[in-house]
Formats: sequence, structure tokens, C-alpha cells
Amino acid sequence: MTREEAKKRIEELRELINYHNYRYYVLNDPVISDAEYDELMRELKQLEEQFPEFITPDSPTQRVGAPPREEFGTIRHALPMLSLEDARNEQEIRDFDARIKRALGLPPDARIEYVAEPKYDGTSLEIIYENGRYRAAATRGDGITGEDVTPNARTIRTIPLRLLKNDRFPIPERVDVRGEVLMKKADFEALNREREKRGEPLFANPRNAAAGSLRQLDPNITAQRKLDFVAWGLGLVRGMEFRTQEEVLEALSAWGFKTSQPRRLCRGIEEVLEYYREMEERRDDFEYELDGIVVKVNDLSLWDRLGTTARSPRYAFAGKFKPREKTTRLIDVVYQVGRTGIITPVAVLEPVEVGGVIVSRATLHNFDEVRRKDIRIGDYVLVHRAGDVIPEIVKPIKERRTGNEKPIEPPTHCPVCGAPTVREGAYYKCVNIACPAKLKGMLKHMASRHALDIEGLGEKISQLLVDRGLVKDPADLFYLKKEDLLRLPGFAEKSTQNLLDQIEKAKRIPLSRFLFALGIPGVGSHTAKILAQHFETLDDLMKASETDLLSIPGIGPETARSIVTFFREPRNREVIQKFLKAGVTPLPEKRKEVKESPLAGKTVVFTGALKSMTREEAQRLVEDLGGHAASSVSRKTDFVVVGENPGSKYQKALQLGIKILTEEEFLKLVGRA
Ligand SMILES: [Zn+2]
Repeated sequence: MTREEAKKRIEELRELINYHNYRYYVLNDPVISDAEYDELMRELKQLEEQFPEFITPDSPTQRVGAPPREEFGTIRHALPMLSLEDARNEQEIRDFDARIKRALGLPPDARIEYVAEPKYDGTSLEIIYENGRYRAAATRGDGITGEDVTPNARTIRTIPLRLLKNDRFPIPERVDVRGEVLMKKADFEALNREREKRGEPLFANPRNAAAGSLRQLDPNITAQRKLDFVAWGLGLVRGMEFRTQEEVLEALSAWGFKTSQPRRLCRGIEEVLEYYREMEERRDDFEYELDGIVVKVNDLSLWDRLGTTARSPRYAFAGKFKPREKTTRLIDVVYQVGRTGIITPVAVLEPVEVGGVIVSRATLHNFDEVRRKDIRIGDYVLVHRAGDVIPEIVKPIKERRTGNEKPIEPPTHCPVCGAPTVREGAYYKCVNIACPAKLKGMLKHMASRHALDIEGLGEKISQLLVDRGLVKDPADLFYLKKEDLLRLPGFAEKSTQNLLDQIEKAKRIPLSRFLFALGIPGVGSHTAKILAQHFETLDDLMKASETDLLSIPGIGPETARSIVTFFREPRNREVIQKFLKAGVTPLPEKRKEVKESPLAGKTVVFTGALKSMTREEAQRLVEDLGGHAASSVSRKTDFVVVGENPGSKYQKALQLGIKILTEEEFLKLVGRA
């Protein structure tokens, strides 16, 4: 391919990719398969590698990969980014309308044409396009100057790197597009769950999460967060005139942006109010957090006549919904036991109306959260309620403390069965294997694939067995009688026999799987394996002291305490005896010392798909050879085995300079090739 041909093809590919990107991310309506899209990207990347002189910052290949910076630069907005004034109820909305009519010299019964749209709760961004190409992006900042987040915003897939060409709205020489950077509620919750696991501070709401993700010195972190961009207006425009706000929004759609939906053209304030009520009613149906509506005069010639105050335009306002946060007093804390034995502290509140509903209880999530927020009994607290979600405590109002507030202590005993509790990460759990609060969850866990693997025992049947009193503790599973089961609804001769066969089969079980099945807090299937390789019999493990357990690599103090507490509990010992009496036989797994192996004592991490075996098989192979298969890369990692489409672990390994093996090299090392 000649240079000229390459240049032309590169241009074609970029147009195509931009278009398909728009179909996929903005319209949610792709017209080619993911594989075909990947193929276009691959071709473009190859050509750009061959002809690097043609790489431009607006190429789809350049979305990610910009290096971290020391600090943010600033960008001065060509036109100030003003903020809207709030109307907090219907009366205040009418007042805005009246004021606008007065300013325009119109009679009180005149009907102004407004564009109303949902007000998504995110963080504002201005993007500068020159001749349709992404040039720069800045946060609102103080309205005059914002932070330069150009490489960060580029990673957001719903921000076009090139505006789409169309006949109705030719691309102006320069246009500054304004909108909101958002995070979906579901993505926000997933992000917080991740952060909680890693012990990182949680984001208070999707808005903070979006703002925090956008303002990262390392744009690669922004790229990993699922951000979205919804355009709502324009700043400076050169080379084009608009007559109405409706037209502006249509142009934004035509150029490839998402715009707020559903928006409505309203004639007169009564139609605006109707829209306002509708949106407030539906606010929980949106995938983004909504905190009101935005109302703008549609006729742009009126904007100039109305002008702005120092801080806000007079031609637009925000109609805010009822607040979902209120302060009240935390009177007491009660404990709830979940199906997995996790004990959740629940705040008892002086009843208060939040967003139209009386709230008298709120979740405190866990004790790390209680400690982090420093919530005490007797505190005045800020309560947040969103839709049907359980209300939660945002923070205590420390300024209102009297000194008589009492700290919230973790429960030492299960409130349902009285058994001792143990700590597992941020949670406290009941250790009683037969605790009534967790019996159904326990059965489901026992039946799962890595535990007893009883296929026929699903959630429904577990529930039925418990509700009909056939199972009062997990060992009862092995004492089920056919005639009892046949009396249950939906149990036919054949399926019943199948279930009993499955249970019978589960009696001979590797010790590690039996230990995992017991649901000892802190003992997942990996820890169960470590234990089974150290102790030959269940009895040996039951006799082990905390000190014994702590000497085993991979067992920390929390887990050691949990194991000892578990086996000390008389009810658990009883149930275990009952298992054994029924014929359950945990088979020893303690392996011979593997010293000769090239993997003895080494830590290995896998990333990407292997061709010759599954990830699990590979990990088992490593363990069998005396190595340790870890799930994340750290300085302690000895080898990273890279399969097809490796993930971020591969990057991490490169950064840390850890030895990288291809699948073939790995197989050679372990003598399989
Ligand atoms: Zn309990």
C-alpha cells in the first residue's frame, strides 16, 4: 500500500469507526457485530503503526493511553458557564415564568414557549470542537476558568472525537458543546462495591463518583470508570446561527451526542408544571440520578433581551424535585442477620418525611462504614432516600453533639440464635451453622458447585425443605426420606430419586470441599484448600489452636480466630457429628512435599484465555506442583502467564518487571509440552 493509499484508508476507517461507535454507545443500536468493529479497529491500528505520521489526537485509537500528568492545567471558557437558579416547588416555578413575562413586557396570561428536559445530576463539562474535531475539554470550574481534562474526557465513548456530518446542520468552524458527565446508578453501585472490597473510601453519590472519575491525573483511570456524556447546550459557536434551543438540541443529536430524554416543548408554564410532576413521579425509572428538570426559553432571540445576572441566566431555571435528604435523630441500633449470616446494623430513627415517605429505619451497611463515618447513638444524622432503595445515613451532624452520644458496638452474639460472631472483613457473621436466620442461604451454599455440588437442590427446593420443617440444620439433608419428599408439591418419583442419588453421591467428598461447604466465615474455597493440604483429617483441624493455624501461610489472624470460634461452638460440633454419622466422609488431600517442581513455592498469576486448559485447570496444576495460584499481580508474583486477550494484570506485570510467560513457555516449564 502506498503512503497516499494508506492515508485515504486511514481516513475511511476513522469515519467508519466513529459512525459505529455512535451507533453502539449513543444510539444503543449497533449495525455491525463486535467482531467486525474490532476488525476495523485492528486494521486502523496496523496502518497507524506502519504510518505513524498520520496519527492524530482525534483518531479512535487515541481514546486511551495518554500518560498521567503532574497537575491539571486550566482552560478559560470562551463564554462563562453560568449556573441555573433553582425553583424548589410549583409556586417558585410560576414565579420564574411571571418574572420572565414582566421582563419581556408581556401580559401575565401570555404563554412563553419553553423547552423542558430532565436535569441529570452529574458534573458539567465543556468540549471545544474545531472544524468538527475534538480539541479540548474543561470542567465548569468557577464558571470562568475550568480544569483542563482533555485526555480524560476523550476516554468517554459518548463524546465524539469527530462530529458526525449531516445535511441539516453543517459542522461549524468552532463550537463549544456543553453537557453533563454522568455515571449510571448501577455503575455507581458497582464501583462502590469494588472500592469497599479494596478498602477504599466510598463515593457519596453518582455525581461525586462522576466528578471524581473525570478529574483523575491518570486518564487511564477515567477510562476504566463507566462515564457517559449528555449534551444540553452550546457555548461559543462560530460560523453558524441558531434560532431556538430546540434546534440546538437537534443539532447536538445530529452531530452524534446523546441529549436528555424525554424532553418536551411546552407552551406556557402549565405544560411545564405538568412535565415537572410527571418527571418527579418517574425519577426512579431513569438509569441516571435525576434531581429536577431544566427549563429554558425556546426562542434564542429572547435570551439576549432577558440577559443574565452575575451568576445565572434569566432565560432558564432548574425546577428541583423534593429533597431526598433530611436530618433526624438516631435513637438506637438494632441488628439484622442476613441469609449468609452477615449481621447488618440498622439505625432506628425518629420518624421523618424524606421525599414524600416517612422513614424510621436506615441501613448502616457495616461496622467499617459506621467507624468511617463516626456515627453514634443519639446523633443527629443526615438521611438519604432514593426511590425504593433502603434509606441510608449519609453522615452525622457533629456540630449538634451534646457529648452524651454513645458509640455503636459490633454485636458479640447473633441476635437470632445467640451464637458468637466473628469478623470477616467489614462484616460480623454468626458462626452457627444451624442458625435459623441463615438456614435457607446455608443450604443453597452447601449445594453449590464448589461445595457439596448437589445439582437438584436449588433455591426453591431449599426453601421448601426448610419451610416444611424437613431440614432444621444442614446435616438433615442426609437424613431425608423418600416418602417425606414425595409428599412435597412438585416432587415426582423420578426427580426425588435423582435428588437422593445426588445427596448420596455427595457423601464421599474431598476434605477441602467439605470445609468450604460448612460456611466457616472467612473460609472460601481457596482457604479451604490450604487447610485441607495442611491437615490430614477434619479432626486434626478441629483440634488446631489459633497459633497452629497462624503458622500456615495464607491464613491470617481473622480467619484463624474464625475457624477456632467455629469449631468451638457446641452446636457446630453437633451438626458435624451428625454429618459424619450419616456417612459423610471427607477424603484427605494432604499432598506429599513437592520440592523438585519448578513451581515449588512460586506464585503464579494467569491473565487472558488459555488454549490448552481452563483457568481453573491451570491453577490446579500450579497448586499440584507446589506453587501458589494468585488472582492479582503484586511484587510477590514470580510468573505471569499471558493467554489470549490479557487484561490489566498484564500491564501491571510489565510495570513491576515480573517474568512473563506465554502459554507455550508455561507448558514447557511444567513439562506438559
Ligand atoms: Zn445466628
